[in-house]
Amino acid sequence: MEINIQQVSKYYSDVLALDNVSLDIADGELFFLLGPSGCGKTTLLRCLGGFEQLSKGKIFFAGKDVSNVPANQRNSAMVFQGYALWPHLTVWENISFGLEMQKITKAERTRRVTEVLEKVQITDLAKRKPNELSGGQQQRVALARTLVVAPGCLLLDEPLANLDAKLRRDMRLEIRRLCKNSGLTGIYVTHDRQEALSMADRIAIMQAGKICQVGTATEIYRQPQSRFVASFIGESNILPGKCQNISSGEAVIDTACGVFRAGKFPSGLQPGSSVWLSIRPEALHSGPSQVNRLQVTLQHIDYLGEMADNISVTADGTVIKFFELNPQGTRPEGSSIELTVNPDEVVVMLE
Ligand code: ATP
Repeated sequence: MEINIQQVSKYYSDVLALDNVSLDIADGELFFLLGPSGCGKTTLLRCLGGFEQLSKGKIFFAGKDVSNVPANQRNSAMVFQGYALWPHLTVWENISFGLEMQKITKAERTRRVTEVLEKVQITDLAKRKPNELSGGQQQRVALARTLVVAPGCLLLDEPLANLDAKLRRDMRLEIRRLCKNSGLTGIYVTHDRQEALSMADRIAIMQAGKICQVGTATEIYRQPQSRFVASFIGESNILPGKCQNISSGEAVIDTACGVFRAGKFPSGLQPGSSVWLSIRPEALHSGPSQVNRLQVTLQHIDYLGEMADNISVTADGTVIKFFELNPQGTRPEGSSIELTVNPDEVVVMLE
């Protein structure tokens, strides 16, 4: 089911929780809303589910305006962080409940509950009550309960937040598999960037009720358009600079710690513009180079086994973070190193 969000704003009295949000989500897409606490992710999800009245704008499901359609008639189902299972009902009854509400026949209910129990791999738990299940098993029941009503879209509000790290990783794959196998459009809210990067077809980064950037995981990570997105989605060295010129498909940027050639820059970039550079710590490596040279003094090393997390400083006092993968040993603090970065890994941002 295709979803179109058109210029949606939402006020809670005088708090502007959503500020003119527009998004087009394709049929069958697993789309993530990612952003810091309070940026409006849950509000947008609740607007999609029909649990909040829009202050402005429209929402379309498969081309139909559902802005004023009640939650139970929207062809969407929501998976909540706290699962919201009925404690006095068995797993089977919890899953069957929504079908009973829809007056589906007993034979059809049995067929569909049996099928969904198999799909989420909890057939053997059908007779248990929620308090006899682990967190991960409860999460599967919550998923089964929404999948069984065969919605056009699945709205997931931090569905893995209550699980431990290992289970979260396993369930990431599982949820993606379930959405893809069922051809469901999924909208998934999280503030966990790894969850979004590893699962999403596309991600929208939100800040203060607005969408800052939309793209695939690699687009968002490798080509952030603002300092906020660059630092929210990962670690980055952010350097202020000025555009000198653009030549041979690269922008030449002057900064306090030297001149950089950048392969990724906005199309309208003009010489003389004030800009910001984003250079990821893993993109910097030691060794001589003709371009993008950076002389630093090592200040602190965190040796983590598979990598070393290094903090260094340039002669003008700019702090530069760089990772060294598979380090053979540790360098002494205070040592001088020449770093370099491929122009393709240097991103120019206007804000
Ligand atoms: P979190 O990650 O912490 O869940 P979020 O990105 O989902 O945050 P929302 O819950 O959508 O953010 O909240 C967006 C803004 O709207 C916040 O400033 C919040 O305080 C405010 N807000 C949310 N619900 C209400 C409400 N019922 N009444 C008043 N203000 C609200």
